[in-house]
Amino acid sequence: MTAAPELAPGGCLTACRGESAFGLPELCATQNAIFEHAGRAIVLTDPAGTILYFNRAAQQMLGYSWEEVTRQASPLLFHCPEEIAREAAALSAKLQRPVAPGFEVFVADLDADSRQDRDWIYVHKNGRRFPVNLAISVLRDATGQVFGYLGIASDISERCRMEQDLRIAAIAFESQAAIMVTDAEQSILRVNQAFSALTGYSAEEAIGQTPRLLKSGRQGPEFYLAMWNALSQNGHWEGEIWNRRKNGEIFPEWLTISAVPDAQGQVANYVSTFSDISDLKVAESEIHHLAFYDPLTTLPNRRLLLNRLDKAGAAGKRNGQYSALLIIDIDHFKTLNDTLGHDVGDRLLIEVASRLRRSVREGDTAARLGGDEFVVMLEALGSDVDWAAIQAETVAEKIRATLCEPYCLQGDAEHFRSASIGISLFCGQEKSADVLLKQADIALYKAKDAGRNAIRFFDTAMQTALDERAGLEADLRRALSRGEFVLYVQPQVDAERQLTGVETLLRWQPAGKPLVPPGDFIPLAEETGLIVPIGLWVLDLACANLARWARDERTRGLTMAVNVSARQFRQADFVRQVTDALARHGANPCRLKLELTESLLLDNVDEVVAKMQALRTLGVRFSLDDFGTGYASLAYLKRYPFEQLKIDRSFVRDITRDGDAAAIVRAVLAMGDTLRLGVVAEGVEENTQYAYLAEHGCRFFQGYLFGRPMSFVTFESQLDLLPAAAADLPDNWEI
Ligand code: C2E
Ligand code: MG
Ligand code: MG
Repeated sequence: MTAAPELAPGGCLTACRGESAFGLPELCATQNAIFEHAGRAIVLTDPAGTILYFNRAAQQMLGYSWEEVTRQASPLLFHCPEEIAREAAALSAKLQRPVAPGFEVFVADLDADSRQDRDWIYVHKNGRRFPVNLAISVLRDATGQVFGYLGIASDISERCRMEQDLRIAAIAFESQAAIMVTDAEQSILRVNQAFSALTGYSAEEAIGQTPRLLKSGRQGPEFYLAMWNALSQNGHWEGEIWNRRKNGEIFPEWLTISAVPDAQGQVANYVSTFSDISDLKVAESEIHHLAFYDPLTTLPNRRLLLNRLDKAGAAGKRNGQYSALLIIDIDHFKTLNDTLGHDVGDRLLIEVASRLRRSVREGDTAARLGGDEFVVMLEALGSDVDWAAIQAETVAEKIRATLCEPYCLQGDAEHFRSASIGISLFCGQEKSADVLLKQADIALYKAKDAGRNAIRFFDTAMQTALDERAGLEADLRRALSRGEFVLYVQPQVDAERQLTGVETLLRWQPAGKPLVPPGDFIPLAEETGLIVPIGLWVLDLACANLARWARDERTRGLTMAVNVSARQFRQADFVRQVTDALARHGANPCRLKLELTESLLLDNVDEVVAKMQALRTLGVRFSLDDFGTGYASLAYLKRYPFEQLKIDRSFVRDITRDGDAAAIVRAVLAMGDTLRLGVVAEGVEENTQYAYLAEHGCRFFQGYLFGRPMSFVTFESQLDLLPAAAADLPDNWEI
């Protein structure tokens, strides 16, 4: 047994005289110094792998002190156990004999010149793993006897990281995007496969050339100047560029160029990455088209118009020039659409669009807002408002005339259409796009009011009306919740002046303001949709009173007529609204009469008839209000289950003075007779009117002569005054 080697204060094997430690030949002082300063980790073991020497570099690399390591068994102390186990398994397979996962792993397969040089994983005392290159040599004495092993290890973490980086870079280089590397003089050094696929140039063809190889000629010198400025200032440029493929095809690409500096900070290379964005551009233009153009007519849509309106406003603000907004509406388009079908309607719209396009200058906009509503915006009409108006009117007149020309929409038949046009002028951005459109819309209504096929300008009188309307609308929105509505009733009598029922008439009393007649707010309520909740309120109150009246023998037999607006009737659940109101109060449906106006009868005949039938089945009756003022014809009337016609009061008013009015009244009475419809004369104010009507067969009457509209309370308080026959009704039932 040999003595343990003497330890130097630094934890080194000292040079000994005579017998060496563990049977190793003695190290002389020089050898020891070389080992200690070798700069590499050096480990000496005996033939069995027991560590005899562990130099300073090894101690630093692995974190173990001399005392912790010497006389310990290698490799398990600082080798990765999984790696040793893997290696043992592999060696067992190779040598066809069991190899233990220990020191044998290193020595079993030492090559002929007794050296093994390969990479391993070491584990630092603190657990950190790192790669090393380990060269193991067999130490033999003069007789060739193995007396130990020398291991020299160096940490190769940095090298491994660089190798990994290179692997990553190689994969990244062959990515989907085309890559081109040039030197500082722009000579192409390398390109990847994607470059060749995209440009058609192989690496051999491209290397040595400059990027001018791909130049399309689409960008001017200023483009390249800006690019090089950015590159020299920021070392980076990216953007869209058109390049040319080998086959001559020009394509858009998204190009990124980065300058790569050398160690001295000088640009050594440029790396360009690019991809073909042709598909993207197509998609982009499709999206743009969908977002900003009307698919049917390909005219700009509302969004693009608003955009251009905004720009025109900004331009006007700068240059003081007027622009004009023309709203164009095809007269009776709906009728054409309903009678000839949507295909024909679409063809008309396409033709209108192309005529509009031809009627305006380049720079002006013809747009379609939806339906049959078109808008033309004329810009740069000069800074004089009168002159701008004249120009706008000239163009509007030209448009009106061109839209009046015949249309060939179906076979050889020619169709004729007219158009109404509303114009609003503007300069700058004082008015929002919404306001401008609304103003042109109001002018359009005026044009329609004037009998259509007309042109109207928006003016200040219209503005005042607009402001008033806006105020009214705001008040109307709050009226229901504030309880400002009151329901009046007006008596209806028979030929013997006997009370048969009432018509309910709505009144609006805004707080602190004069009473608003229904003619002033019902159209507005219709337009805004407020008529729906208002109508429900009326219906509910009428049913509540009907139910109450059923309990009073004086009123039990009276009918209650309720006016129903077209918009209210068109509600999908209108039938349910009526049945609900009746059921809620337990009112008798046979006493309820709904007054509809002729406008309702023009569209969706089947739907209207179906709704009426559904309610008729319950017992609810229908009366056609204001008859004679609209379009209703005999043919129309026969299709609907009306029980009664109401002759409009304009005819009754003139009955004794105007022969035509009297003739119309007589015709209506005759018609009612033929169709077995009861006829009520509205607005009977004088006894002479009453006498004339009665003489010609009219059996029901309503008018100031028999009573004005009044509250339920007043009406009921006067009922007691009534004798059985209504003939004794006081002439004036005013409150
Ligand atoms: P309408 O349904 O034709 O009602 C008859 C109108 O003639 C009432 O006007 C009534 O006060 C008036 N009137 C009756 N007899 C005479 C008369 O002898 N001489 C004159 N000069 N006028 C007479 P009002 O109450 O101003 O109602 C106007 C219109 O407002 C109604 O015409 C109806 O269309 C609508 N309306 C009234 N209440 C409602 C309602 O609750 N719902 C709906 N949707 N519309 C209603
Ligand atoms: Mg009525
Ligand atoms: Mg009426």
